[in-house]
Parts: sequence; C-alpha cells; structure tokens
Amino acid sequence: MALPPPHMKARKRFGQNFLIDDYIIASIVDAINPKEGERLVEIGPGHAAITRPVLERAKAMTAIELDRDLAKILREDPFLKGLTLIEQDALKFNFSEFAKDGDIRVFGNLPYNITSPIIFHLLEQKGIIDMHFMLQKEVVERLAAAPNSKDYGRLTIMTQYYARVYPVLEVPPEAFSPRPKVVSAVVRLKPKGLNDEERALAPLLNEVVTQAFSARRKTIKNALSDMFNDEELLRYGIELNMRAENIPLNTYVELAKLLKEKKQN
Ligand code: SAM
Repeated sequence: MALPPPHMKARKRFGQNFLIDDYIIASIVDAINPKEGERLVEIGPGHAAITRPVLERAKAMTAIELDRDLAKILREDPFLKGLTLIEQDALKFNFSEFAKDGDIRVFGNLPYNITSPIIFHLLEQKGIIDMHFMLQKEVVERLAAAPNSKDYGRLTIMTQYYARVYPVLEVPPEAFSPRPKVVSAVVRLKPKGLNDEERALAPLLNEVVTQAFSARRKTIKNALSDMFNDEELLRYGIELNMRAENIPLNTYVELAKLLKEKKQN
C-alpha cells in the first residue's frame, strides 16, 4: 500500500479522505472501465488517485474540484495532461447542459457529508450513461435494498425510480488517508432514461414515500390515511396491514400517479 504523500493535508469540511491503496484504486478503475473517446467526468479528484489511471486509459477527461488549493496542484501537474479542470461545487454544476455535447459517464469518491444531495442532483440530470461512486457501505446497502428489509426506505425507492443499482466492491477504512470511521463501498448507478412525464412524477412519488416511511412502524393504511382511502390502497394490491417496507417500487409509482390525479381534480 502506498504511503500518503506528505502534502496530503485533508480538509474535513470538504469531506477529504484520500485513497492510498493501489489495489483498490485499480479495482475501481477496472469497474469504471474507461475508454478513449468517452466523456468522463470525475467529482472531487483530490490528489488524482483515480484520475491518473483513468486518464492513462481515456487520454482525456473532465474533473470538478471545489478545493481551490487542490485545483491549483492538479492544474500544474505535468502528468495530468488531458485533464480539463472545473473549479466549482459539483452540486451547482449543470451536468445536463454539459451532456448536450455528448452523453457522459460520472464517477467519484464522494465527500460523505454531501452524498445524498449529489446523488439526487445527478439523478435529476439528463445525458448520463452511468455513475460510479464510493460511498459509505451502509448507504450502498440502502440504495440497493429490496422490499421487506430494514434498509429499504425513501433513499432506496427514489434512487431505484431513476436508476438501476449495482453494488461493486467493499473498501476498508485502511484504503484511505485519513481513515474514515466506517467501511465504504463502490456502487454503479445506471439511469433508466426517464422521459419528462416520468421525471415530473418524482416529487409526487417523494411525497407518498416520505409520508409512508415517516411512521415506519404504522400500517400503511394509517400512515397514508391523509392521502388514500382503503379502497384505493386495495385497488393496487396493498393489504391494509402491510407496512411501508413491504410495498414495492412499482406500487409506490402507481400511488404517485393516483395522487397526481387526485390533485388535478
Ligand atoms: N478522489 C480523491 C481520492 O479518491 O483520493 C479524493 C476523494 S475525497 C473523499 C473528496 C473530494 O471531493 C476532495 O478532493 C474534496 O475537495 C472534493 N469535494 C468536496 N466537496 C465537493 C463539491 N461540493 N464539489 C466538488 N468537489 C468536492
């Protein structure tokens, strides 16, 4: 395992945990499988642990880094020719606009403090072929969860509405400097390419799911009593004694459509 270079002073407020394990880095790059001619965008390149090997294969790519000092180091690195650096907050970057010149592939070892906002910002954008992210393992388990499990919740349903979720590999704390307190994991998200109507339904889906899971231990009948009556729930095959975690994504989507109808009337 490589030692972290002495200049790697991590800034907590930017969620900096730098990858230092060459085997893990190689495994992540293999999972991304970058190729020349693809439009690759990295969020938070840091000290270029993943950037460098990706550039070796792809020859050109773009990275978005918020830390000004890191951006300067990256810009001046003679081994990072082919890297276009954007010094910005990824949460404010318009990926859809950037993808107008050709679909993009996004990846990053994300700062843990802004994981969910970044994922949702990206899921709402158009023109993304796939995404590979390093996240807390616990978050990956929630993204990939199936109904009837404790990990299945609002994050699961909203993510799986937009994208297919594939856990890729687990990464121990020792692979980073400084070491995070938790185990991490890499996940692949493949957007389903929702049309505008499907995208417009997302806020309603979010409304239903937030309400359903706001009282996880209540029956769905009680949790959603402000929105739907018993007959409406039964119509979608929901048994009244079920709980929020027993209901699959497609049933929640049907309920969101019904809510939309009811709001229009
Ligand atoms: N990719 C590097 C690695 O794997 O070693 C660094 C990963 S570190 C967990 C997260 C990186 O994201 C840092 O370089 C940090 O400065 C950057 N960052 C934090 N917040 C950001 C934001 N809002 N937009 C873009 N980059 C951000």
